[in-house]
Amino acid sequence: MRLTFLGTGTARPLPDTAASGVLVQDGETAVLFDIGSGIASRLETTVGAAGLSGLVVGHFHADHWVDIAPLRYRFPWGERAPRPLPVYVPPGGRDKLEHLAAAIAERPGFFDAAFDVTEYESGRPIRIGSLTVTPHPVGHYVPAWTMDIVCRDGSRIVYGGDMGPNAMVVELARGADVLILEATLESTAFDDARRGHLTAEEAIEHVALAGVPRGFLVHYPSERRGIIRALCAASGVPVEPAVPGLTADVECGPRPDSRGATVEAQETVSTG
Ligand SMILES: [Zn+2]
Ligand SMILES: [Zn+2]
Repeated sequence: MRLTFLGTGTARPLPDTAASGVLVQDGETAVLFDIGSGIASRLETTVGAAGLSGLVVGHFHADHWVDIAPLRYRFPWGERAPRPLPVYVPPGGRDKLEHLAAAIAERPGFFDAAFDVTEYESGRPIRIGSLTVTPHPVGHYVPAWTMDIVCRDGSRIVYGGDMGPNAMVVELARGADVLILEATLESTAFDDARRGHLTAEEAIEHVALAGVPRGFLVHYPSERRGIIRALCAASGVPVEPAVPGLTADVECGPRPDSRGATVEAQETVSTG
């Protein structure tokens, strides 16, 4: 499985990066997770809209889905696309797309000709090509979902999306090969009492608690990249800030917790 970080920015436009968008490729399968502002253009530097097997949107903030509008223009005009793109959105997403079409002065059903839209449900797995994706609800300012992404060989990525501190995500990520988390805040003083984002320190702690072999931080202001990189290095945790365009190959690796148990059990059998 290959990850490509198409954007690492927040909602605020930045000179060096688009907002949220992570491309996950596994053989012939290519799935884009989030399509924030600037991502539709970045996608064309990789597989392009025509090369996608699916799009999964984690929540309806502009920095996670507003580029679904420009993406539509990569598909045939007027008639139904011969190969509509499977698009998975949170509950209420069909209605949101109709409103978005109206807001950009397009006709009703504008998105229907290009996309096969499915509103996903919490905890119900979605199959897209060789990937199985399960959305899990997390705390944000609006309903938002973390994605558990499993590929055919068993390698697994947890993509946190926007969220406040979350013990469920730590548990979910145990045994995963990669955990991708946001690191939006400089300080918790900038967040609401009911938390909706993480500081870099909190994100690093989540990676440490989950015990994953590799963590990436996204959704951070680019001017803090150096500080975040230093925090990651000082933590001793295998985590780093993703940079725009970074790719990472993910293999179904040994998992310290379960492997330890398995090896022990095998040894018991063979010696006993
Ligand atoms: Zn958000
Ligand atoms: Zn966001």
